[in-house]
Amino acid sequence: MSNVYVLTDGTSRGAKLLAARPFQPGEIVYDFANALVTPLQTYQTIQIDPSNHVIADDLLAKLNHSCDPNLIVDTTHRLVIAKYAIQIHDHLTFFYPSTEWEMAEPFVCQCGAANCLGWISGAKNLAAEMLTGYFLNQHIVELMTYTGVRRDPLPFNLYDAQASLPPVS
Ligand SMILES: [Zn+2]
Repeated sequence: MSNVYVLTDGTSRGAKLLAARPFQPGEIVYDFANALVTPLQTYQTIQIDPSNHVIADDLLAKLNHSCDPNLIVDTTHRLVIAKYAIQIHDHLTFFYPSTEWEMAEPFVCQCGAANCLGWISGAKNLAAEMLTGYFLNQHIVELMTYTGVRRDPLPFNLYDAQASLPPVS
């Protein structure tokens, strides 16, 4: 049984990925270990290090952004993990700046979250305080550090506490 399914409105970018079953926080929702690595970034790639990306498969490509996401995309372990408890048919989302330093196709976010950041163009263009509370992949933290944006460590270590992810305020 699949963990996820696609709900489409008939347009290529109107599709959503939804939960096919409930998930507990910390549970693995999707594994993209076999995704192809490329140096070429598009709107359908996920950044995995400062100079490489993976090509999202047909399901991952439907994973939308939210400023209050219910998933974490962990590019070190190539896993998509539930951040919060997820109910069946919930709209699955992750925070694009957690993987993307500078996005191929920035957009105006309409996620509806109270903390919506508005213009989503990658972590490079967000002040460090705007990223507080978000899980960020190691390459994003490193790029922030190298560029002087951020010098504090990760807000938490995902794999020290995978079974019980701390609440993110
Ligand atoms: Zn938003």
